[in-house]
Amino acid sequence: MIPHEYIEEVVRRNEIADVVGNYVQLKRKGRLYGGLCPFHSEKTPSFYVYPETQSFYCFGCGAGGDVITFIKKINNIDYEDAVTRLAGRAGRPEPEEDDRGGRMRSRVLAINKDAARWFYACLNSSTEEAKQARAYWRRRGLDDKTIVRFGLGYAPDDFRSTYQHLKDKGYTDAELLESGLVKRSEKGNLYNIFHRRVMTPIFDLRGNIIAFGGRVLDDSKPKYINSPETLVYKKSKTVFALQLAKKSTSRRYVLCEGYMDVISMQQAGIDTAVCACGTALTPDQVRLISEYADEVVLSYDSDEAGQKATARSLELFRDSPVKVSVLQIPGAKDPDEYIKKYGAERFRALLDGTGNALEFRIGQVRKKYDLVQDKDRLDYVREVVRLLADRNSPTEREVYAGRLAEETNISKTAIMAQLEEEVKKSSYRRRAEKQKQLLHSGPADTIRVPYQAGGQKALAVASAEQMLVAAMLREPSFVPLAMQRLDPAALILPDMRQAAEAIFRCQREGAAVTLANVGALVPENTLTELSRLAAQYSEVNPTEKDVQLYLDRIAQSTPKSSSANKMTDEELARYLQSLKDRKQGTPRDGG
Ligand SMILES: [Zn+2]
Repeated sequence: MIPHEYIEEVVRRNEIADVVGNYVQLKRKGRLYGGLCPFHSEKTPSFYVYPETQSFYCFGCGAGGDVITFIKKINNIDYEDAVTRLAGRAGRPEPEEDDRGGRMRSRVLAINKDAARWFYACLNSSTEEAKQARAYWRRRGLDDKTIVRFGLGYAPDDFRSTYQHLKDKGYTDAELLESGLVKRSEKGNLYNIFHRRVMTPIFDLRGNIIAFGGRVLDDSKPKYINSPETLVYKKSKTVFALQLAKKSTSRRYVLCEGYMDVISMQQAGIDTAVCACGTALTPDQVRLISEYADEVVLSYDSDEAGQKATARSLELFRDSPVKVSVLQIPGAKDPDEYIKKYGAERFRALLDGTGNALEFRIGQVRKKYDLVQDKDRLDYVREVVRLLADRNSPTEREVYAGRLAEETNISKTAIMAQLEEEVKKSSYRRRAEKQKQLLHSGPADTIRVPYQAGGQKALAVASAEQMLVAAMLREPSFVPLAMQRLDPAALILPDMRQAAEAIFRCQREGAAVTLANVGALVPENTLTELSRLAAQYSEVNPTEKDVQLYLDRIAQSTPKSSSANKMTDEELARYLQSLKDRKQGTPRDGG
């Protein structure tokens, strides 16, 4: 048996959407991904990947599981082989690793780590240039703790020493060229690309250093140089400081313009500050941020470039499930400057009262029109009404309609009438979209059985059992509560009994309650069932109250008089069947 720590590590290093994405063309749909199922033949997608539970499920054929199950099924190999293969894929140095790409990857990561140590040592050396570099970081307001936390450093003022240092560490020229830290000159000599620059390492989500950003100490050009794209660094898919932000308890992220903003915000205690690598935010970065954040505050510079970036980012976030707002920074050109001027506390207050995205959009629309002109005024109203119609809150719509009336001198009644018309259209549109989605993703309601006393009671209890298990997998913090109140042996669905036992065992033994760990302890068909539940309830955010309610329902069925507990085998078989009939997709994808 493979130790659970090892499996945890392998699973952690293999984001399920990335892995599946190598085999299936996935399209993002809100918090999940959909595509054509690789396990049965189909023309419309019924195969889904759920990053939150790190699971997949096909509503067409019922195939499901975690990342290990996926690799196992798709390659037709056994569990151990699947784990080994995933371990190799993640660039984990395996003795039997024969995959050359994987080997080079881990060499490049090692080079970056050694380079970061070198830059850090250079920053702290006794030379005059090191002193200037330290003074630079000080001028930016950074303390020692922050310098260590971000692994900041300094690349000395010459073309050879970094190269030579790494060479002495035993890396070959080929490996160093691959790392992007070193280039070949026209004469054929190798030289290091960073010199006389303060250095900021860029980490991936797993804490590997994948690239560097280097900035000059003065105003000379180019101000910034970044590592080129390499085997380990794709800038359009990298979000700076996300490895720190994802550990925060807050799901409200602050998206800044550059590394410096992020670092000074983080120093000020805003641990969800991140920024895009590269010049402009990309859809991949939006997708990545949306996986961790519920809310994003855009915090760009107040200059024209910053405002353009804000508009562009709003557009990119439009189809993501994340709530977006725009930070207005009064009296400073960027967050960094604001924090220095007024302190972190006031900046946090600013964050809490962020001007919302709607106001920003209205402001953008207003710029297009000359409100003195009648025609422009009408067009302006029409456009804003369309924006307002998408808002869910009638009060909010009313407030903005009132402001719009004042601003344009058009009667509020007329604006409200126009707005209502637009709301109808937009809600019809949304309903149609939702229906389409449900059709493709399998309605979450099919299995949710309403609680009814009497004959349907067992069905309701069974449903509570499933929802309880789904809630524990989604939110492992509920497990201790469930352990206090629940004896798994009392559960009436055999697979939920196995699942609850496995979950409790993980908890007792200090293993993370993840689908992968639980899956290793239950039969495969139970794992498939758990993936189905994860899929089914992916839109449900269970609260502690919900969990108590499930536990209540289950407890009500456990007294000796309970019909559920006393069900005959025949009765049990009958309602298991009735449960099954409610599920979509009948054929199971083997075992
Ligand atoms: Zn399928």
